[in-house]
Amino acid sequence: MALGRTLGVALVGLAGHVVEVEAHLAASIPAFALVGLPDAALAESRDRVRAAVSSSGLSWPQRRITVNLSPASLPKSGSGFDLAIAVATLAGAEVVDPSRVEQVVHLGELGLDGRLRPVRGVLPAVAAAVAAGRPRVVVPAANAAEARLVPGAEVAAALTLAQVAAWYGAEVEVPDVEPPAQGPSASPAERSAPDLADVLGQPEARRGLEVAAAGGHHLLMVGPPGTGKTLLAARLPGLLPDLDETDAVEVTAVHSVAGTFDATGGLLRRPPFEDPHHTATPASVVGGGSGLPRPGAASRAHRGVLFLDEAPEFSPSVLETLRQPLENGELVLHRANGTARYPARFQLVLAANPCPCGRAVGKGLDCTCRSEQRRRYFGKLSGPLLDRVDLQVELEDARSAALPGESTAVVAARVAQARAAGAERLAGTPWRTNAEVPGPWLRERLGADRALVGDLDRALDRGTLSLRGVDRVLRVAWTLADLGGRPAPRRADVGLALLLRTRGQGA
Ligand SMILES: [Zn+2]
Repeated sequence: MALGRTLGVALVGLAGHVVEVEAHLAASIPAFALVGLPDAALAESRDRVRAAVSSSGLSWPQRRITVNLSPASLPKSGSGFDLAIAVATLAGAEVVDPSRVEQVVHLGELGLDGRLRPVRGVLPAVAAAVAAGRPRVVVPAANAAEARLVPGAEVAAALTLAQVAAWYGAEVEVPDVEPPAQGPSASPAERSAPDLADVLGQPEARRGLEVAAAGGHHLLMVGPPGTGKTLLAARLPGLLPDLDETDAVEVTAVHSVAGTFDATGGLLRRPPFEDPHHTATPASVVGGGSGLPRPGAASRAHRGVLFLDEAPEFSPSVLETLRQPLENGELVLHRANGTARYPARFQLVLAANPCPCGRAVGKGLDCTCRSEQRRRYFGKLSGPLLDRVDLQVELEDARSAALPGESTAVVAARVAQARAAGAERLAGTPWRTNAEVPGPWLRERLGADRALVGDLDRALDRGTLSLRGVDRVLRVAWTLADLGGRPAPRRADVGLALLLRTRGQGA
């Protein structure tokens, strides 16, 4: 019995595991079996690999071939094992030199014509290979730039299976194949971000946006159609600081697995922005699909902004799915062959009309909705979702104010200074922004300053604010203090925080 061995990588969520791919060739009736927990897409690999080997001008071994992917307990999915399976088989048949492929990681899908096709998740897969002490990787040419982003990786890029086989000593003619076009960068981070100076008026909403950026708070904007809610939300990422190295790698890995990453611009270093439509399905927000599950909008917004325009119009099942990431910062996808986890720690921005007809502004005289309709409209957002939204601001009718405001650069500078102040205070804690700090810690820090918390106590007594509501106000008050360069919130900060929490209607 002949044996060929090489390496591949199985991705479970963003975690990569180096997998040994072994091909046993036995002198028996020709057959080809794959074992070791392959999913349906991987099982189709058999047909692709056999066709690709033949199309490449290499002879398919007339033996009983068993390919084993181990450890078998690890779920393996997708088409990224094609190249490793082909190489292991060719090594078993001694078409290629078995000793030269054993320590090399092979990634890529094979076309029936023997071309090597790009796969999703190359960045986390190569990172896992390097971390496991297997820095030599062969990837499809279209994935080469992405693979080379991993420090320490020794990347060889190939266009065809024949090219790979020839490197390892196979006597085969290497076809002339056009390299993949390296177009100009289409990476979202590279596109010029919209500027806050383009939004006219709306001083309260702009304030809310700045506070949200400074403290990492979730934000609800309520206002009639056409008042700039969408324009403002799209400008929030521009106010946020660059991602640090760890976050940049993680965010890029999510987009690599999602297939929404173009490596020509390097790692993603700006916070992403995702704005699923209100007709979005739970799967498109959470993630899923066959093979290697695709991260949904909530994960693609990791360390950035998830914007739900017309939030009450989203299906209750979609809004429900956001509870898990809002609580844990990750999404767990349950699969037939195990679970996949994707990070999903985003800043949530919700936009809503004041009522179903959209005209309940000011005294609401033009509104044609029944009070029950209005209640039901916001009722969809209530509970666990709004409980986590620290800031709620109301937008004015666009006619009332048209002054241009400050630019993104000016506001972002204040945000950066406030974030630095907050980070200094939170150093040594598990939290990075005021929005993450739990209530007891906040209340302890305020000490026994009764004058400061008097307003909150009164609101508590009147029942207009819950204890969790008090914590939300305190979190925002700390952010206001950070923005103002004050060492601790003053009474005015608490007062403004109350206003920014109750859509300007007082406590
Ligand atoms: Zn109405």
